[in-house]
Amino acid sequence: MKKYGNIALRRKTMAIDAQLLEILACPKCKTDIKLTADEKGLKCVQCHRVYPIKDDIPVMLLDEATIEPERQTKD
Ligand SMILES: [Zn+2]
Repeated sequence: MKKYGNIALRRKTMAIDAQLLEILACPKCKTDIKLTADEKGLKCVQCHRVYPIKDDIPVMLLDEATIEPERQTKD
């Protein structure tokens, strides 16, 4: 995927690319996800699953996600 290439190049200056966020979705709900306040995860607005970001790469796997309704997100 082309946009993943951009992320790799920019990883030193920016954790997660805004364009990448737009194309990513929760694999369960197919719903928007938001960056968590600490920028260490991506949270589904619907099921409250938080997907970890490892080495600046979002891990969009249900097995890796934790359900955290209280986790704060950025806007
Ligand atoms: Zn979800």
